[in-house]
Amino acid sequence: MRKLKSGGGWQAIWYTWTKAREVGGLRKLWRAMRSKNACKTCALGMGGQAGGMVNEAGHFPEVCKKSIQAMVADMQGAIRPDFWSTYSIAQLQQFTPRELEHCGRITQPVILRAGGQYYEPLSWDEAFQKMTAKLKTIRPDESFWYFSGRSSNEAGFLLQLFARLYGTNNVNNCSYYCHQASGVGLNSAIGTGAGTVQLEDIEHADLIFVIGGNPASNHPRLMRTLMAVRRNGGQVIVINPIVETGLVNFRVPSDVRSLLFGTSISSLYVQPHIGGDLALLYGIAKRIVELNATDEAYLAAYCDGWPELRVRLQTLDWSEITAKSGVPREQIDAIAAAYAKAKNAVFTWTMGITHHTHGVLNVQAIANLALMRGMIGRKSAGVLPIRGHSNVQGIGTVGVTPRLKDAVFERLQNHFQVQLPTTPGLDTMACIEAATRGELRFGMCLGGNLYGSNPDSAYAGKALGDLDLLVYLNTTLNTGHAHGLAKETIILPVLARDEEPEPTTQESMFSYVRLSDGGPRRHDGPRSEIEVIADLAAGVLPSGGPIDWHAMRSTETIRGAIAKIVPGLEQIGQIGATKQEFQIPGRTFHTPQFPTPNGRARLHTHLDLPELLGSRPAEAGQLRLMTIRSEGQFNTVVYEDYDLYRGVDRRDVILLHPDDLSRLGLRNDQRVSVTSEIGRMEGVLARAYDDIRPGNCAMYYPEANAVVPRKLDPLSKTPAFKNVLVTVAAMPVAALTNIALPSSANREPVRA
Ligand code: SF4
Repeated sequence: MRKLKSGGGWQAIWYTWTKAREVGGLRKLWRAMRSKNACKTCALGMGGQAGGMVNEAGHFPEVCKKSIQAMVADMQGAIRPDFWSTYSIAQLQQFTPRELEHCGRITQPVILRAGGQYYEPLSWDEAFQKMTAKLKTIRPDESFWYFSGRSSNEAGFLLQLFARLYGTNNVNNCSYYCHQASGVGLNSAIGTGAGTVQLEDIEHADLIFVIGGNPASNHPRLMRTLMAVRRNGGQVIVINPIVETGLVNFRVPSDVRSLLFGTSISSLYVQPHIGGDLALLYGIAKRIVELNATDEAYLAAYCDGWPELRVRLQTLDWSEITAKSGVPREQIDAIAAAYAKAKNAVFTWTMGITHHTHGVLNVQAIANLALMRGMIGRKSAGVLPIRGHSNVQGIGTVGVTPRLKDAVFERLQNHFQVQLPTTPGLDTMACIEAATRGELRFGMCLGGNLYGSNPDSAYAGKALGDLDLLVYLNTTLNTGHAHGLAKETIILPVLARDEEPEPTTQESMFSYVRLSDGGPRRHDGPRSEIEVIADLAAGVLPSGGPIDWHAMRSTETIRGAIAKIVPGLEQIGQIGATKQEFQIPGRTFHTPQFPTPNGRARLHTHLDLPELLGSRPAEAGQLRLMTIRSEGQFNTVVYEDYDLYRGVDRRDVILLHPDDLSRLGLRNDQRVSVTSEIGRMEGVLARAYDDIRPGNCAMYYPEANAVVPRKLDPLSKTPAFKNVLVTVAAMPVAALTNIALPSSANREPVRA
């Protein structure tokens, strides 16, 4: 497969056309995409009451392959009724992530009974009876409640409320496996865990840092904004161990000039070694001090911690910085020179920063850099963690966390006149570990793929297998339904966002709250998540309690409660009537008034910069592995097996530099084993890839989770998906004959 020279462009337009044909034509797809619903995919945020394909700066049409893929998946036909008796669990385990997604919409509840080999349909009544019976026989802290960022604010609020009234704080969400380090790091620095900028701040900045991410693939419409920055004469500095095609050049389909001629995105592209970011960030900061480019007046007036950090930077040795980052001094100087000249800089980052055992430290170091030049608390400058799922920020805001913010806790108790549990709740990984110890018996997953998003897949599978009952609420199948199986597992089919019978709300990464109208259901069978949660709560909690769960089936009623309970969301109470979408006050701020206890920001000093993995001579035969997502994938959902921008035609590969290939005595596309401290993957194709730094390699997530250990950032509990030491070795010919790779060959179509 040929590697492209630019992202976006005609391929994206052609892809849209082919997808439209799959679902009955362009008109039908257009109508669905233009409905007044927030984009179902990434947290950049699109649509809502402005209509689909409109971004927060009012640009139209703003649409990308990711949003079309999600829409087309929801527009699929139903899974055929005989599917469940045709494919055993062992067979489903052979399906690839893409094949499972393409099986069609789930339209009836199904159960895998204890000892069974097949899912069987069951009625909603029986499903509720089973859940209710289990929840009534266990202690509340033997249950856990996991939420994906797909769900609405209303569903998130309602389920966490039910879980707490049931008696547990084991409430957590998918951000514990992605951006929790951003939340913890930013909170410790500036008093809020969210980004401080709005979309138009980015457009008017003159320098954008894109660190540890590939928004060209994962947040494609951000590229229009970066295009605007470049056209205004601004700079974009990309820091990433892999040179990503779309970050070098992108053809924005909605802009004729860009579509025809392409737009240069990165003005400077720097490739640290995997795990070298903290040292690199310290190097940039040190050079800023040497250039006398700090804003001393701002630091004195608005920040604490600068004197200590300045001493640390002054005494830090350049040789340590270059050795631990893998970035030569000239490049660090070039970054610092550009930053020193910038009037308004925005720092953006994604999971290349957070997926490390020092993820919070990375984020604090980014905040340090921004604060050193007074870039937080004014227009067109600030910090922005680029978040994944469309409402991952929103569900955190409405209380889907093990520990509620004090104000929310108090107001919840007062508003509903209830007593909430005070036992400490478990985060996502703590739940998996508790399940392995036999301490949990029931789990409910509101969307997502908990199994697939875990490091150490074998461990995750075993942990979930120790539960008595696991309940998934999903629209389509994923690997969790085949591998993440409890003694009994139930899948409940739910409606997509644009099929909800009542309006719901979502919050973008810019803290902008949108209203989605919902719309007509595409299939009989699936139910609204809100209806399922309210009915379950009514069945489990004693009747006559303080909450009328029947009334809580109304999203308007839920929003009324959220408005009174969650500080900053007061306007959500009226949004159904006024249709007035809004920015959450106090998050995106243009004055240096920080929401910290003393109103000042804090710079953090780190005394130890982490060594690069495998940098010691004894480990010379090893490589640092990062897990990556392809252009045809969103989180754990794989829409296409090929990776268009990287020119990779399949997912069972390990991408390594040609120099490493010859150092290890391997040929291109030779079958190898990849071994880490926790596992081995066999039969992987070793693929020569020029665009990765030698010494580093990459494999596709979630499949590569089989070799990702459960190493967590101690401050945020975010797993280190991006920094794994592996050994790559040729496989003996005899072993190759035993490899059974998942394949779709000889399978009948499974959709209705
Ligand atoms: S960039 Fe994100 S929010 Fe915008 S259309 Fe694509 S997936 Fe949706």
